[in-house]
Amino acid sequence: MLNLNDYLKKAKNGHYAIGHFNFATADVLRGIIEAAKEAGASAVMVGTSEGEAGFIGMKEAVVLVAALREEYDFPVFLNADHFKNFEKCKEAIGAGYDSVIIDASRLPYHENIAVTKKVVDYAQSVNPDISVEGELGYLRGTSEVQRKIEISPADYTQPNLAFNFLSHTKVDRLAVVFGNIHGIVTEQTEKLDIEHLKRIVLAVNSARSIFHFWRNRTVYLVLHGASGLKDEDVVASIKAGIVNVHFNTELRVAYREGIEKAIHAKPDEAAPYKYLAPAIEDVKKVVSQKIKLFISHV
Ligand SMILES: [Zn+2]
Repeated sequence: MLNLNDYLKKAKNGHYAIGHFNFATADVLRGIIEAAKEAGASAVMVGTSEGEAGFIGMKEAVVLVAALREEYDFPVFLNADHFKNFEKCKEAIGAGYDSVIIDASRLPYHENIAVTKKVVDYAQSVNPDISVEGELGYLRGTSEVQRKIEISPADYTQPNLAFNFLSHTKVDRLAVVFGNIHGIVTEQTEKLDIEHLKRIVLAVNSARSIFHFWRNRTVYLVLHGASGLKDEDVVASIKAGIVNVHFNTELRVAYREGIEKAIHAKPDEAAPYKYLAPAIEDVKKVVSQKIKLFISHV
């Protein structure tokens, strides 16, 4: 079976992106996988934040993903999304996650490098198929709907630091900041700085040539916080070199609103699967629309 980095490589060569969607319950997980397959994705990443993992359970998430991967005969990769320290990443790797994001971007730069490198080395020692993502730059926001967030170019991933970070940590994927934020804001327009992304891509490509020599690996750039962005901004970022796009908040909103609608429509309905099923249809619509966007310009 091909590993996640193999699928990311195909995406990079084919100039499309692989979607990453979060879940905390089995019904949402199934909805994501069904929609991704139906929409024509080559593979899909599903993620649990530390909070989501705490709710569903790491071992449970691993077993569910394995069962659904087999049932749908479709490549699904489970990611530990924004795990904040080495111990949590180690726990996810021990549970059988295919991928981890060590998010130490709020630590001083050298501490970020140190802990990210520690996770990369540990993952490699356990299973070389595991893909590790690091994060550089200050990604503001939370996975919620918010009113307004100040976005400053000072928060952006600096291209020279990206090169330096990659050569020290040797992560497979790098989460970059170029105007993106986590969550949805209601009182401002989210806008990506594609020219800044292009400068990061140039710097990373020079790092990649070194990687090729070291490990025969490449580096994949990741867009977080794509909820709330205009479609054309997402497509422009993929054209400029993004190969993995994270959506979470729009799915959460679809799920929540779907449940509310179903309960309002039948206030006496007590069977969870009856009021959850329509909400999953709404989640599937969002996933399907996003996947089609990621592969639209190919
Ligand atoms: Zn994220």
